[in-house]
Amino acid sequence: MNWTVEYIKKETPTTITLHFTTEKEISFQAGQWYLFDAIIDEKKIKRAYSISSAPSKNEADVTVTLVENGIFSTYLHSLQPGDTINAEGPYGRFIIDEDATELVLIGAGSGIAPLMSIIRTIIKKNLDIKVTLLYSSKTQENIIFYNELTQLSKRETIHVHHTLTVEQWNGMTGRINKDKIEHLVTDFSTPTFYICGPPLMVNAVQHILLEKNVEAQRIKTERYH
Ligand SMILES: Cc1cc2nc3c(=O)[nH]c(=O)nc-3n(C[C@H](O)[C@H](O)[C@H](O)COP(=O)(O)OP(=O)(O)OC[C@H]3O[C@@H](n4cnc5c(N)ncnc54)[C@H](O)[C@@H]3O)c2cc1C
Repeated sequence: MNWTVEYIKKETPTTITLHFTTEKEISFQAGQWYLFDAIIDEKKIKRAYSISSAPSKNEADVTVTLVENGIFSTYLHSLQPGDTINAEGPYGRFIIDEDATELVLIGAGSGIAPLMSIIRTIIKKNLDIKVTLLYSSKTQENIIFYNELTQLSKRETIHVHHTLTVEQWNGMTGRINKDKIEHLVTDFSTPTFYICGPPLMVNAVQHILLEKNVEAQRIKTERYH
């Protein structure tokens, strides 16, 4: 199905959000992704991208970080308002659990995209769910959705914690590890955990949670490879 770029928002020096309107009605759940394709240098290339906005029938946000020498991310960064792209989906089982009372969201880099869709959906639907977000970025200027997350964290039920991996600042630094998770999560017996980002980070966090006796069905993972 054809999706048309309506407008583009610069999120960080290397990340943009493409706001699309869709040709026909779409139906996806917070956390899911679509497969996009385009002919680039005479070859058909396909890549997966999560939706970062809350579900809607005819619009969707895709938040894309430019990867150095990356074929498709460079292509998406070259799109202009009015341009169209083919999207197939939705796909994925990394889906919001609307019956949960507490979610712990753990992400790195562009892995914030489906987590943001989940948070925006909780707000939009006024769901009674407590959220703790642990989000790892390289530097302060690389934090995607920083202003919106700061606003959201003023709510009693939304707790946002940033860590930076390649820059010092007033806040937390270093990669997401067992100490950081134990510091933020006091009770591992109730929340549903969502982990999204580079495969090595997702594997490491999944391992930590399993060691803390979190049942596999309360750990949802999405690996960006
Ligand atoms: C389910 C799913 C959902 C995804 N959702 C998003 C999303 O919402 N936003 C988003 O920005 N990306 C997302 N991705 C990643 C995306 O699909 C592409 O892999 C990414 O944009 C790079 O594609 P490319 O064609 O630009 O790079 P390629 O041309 O495929 O790769 C170029 C070089 O960069 C390396 N590379 C590839 N990906 C990365 C990376 N993520 N970080 C560092 N180096 C890399 C490769 O090993 C290669 O050396 C998602 C991936 C999956 C599997």
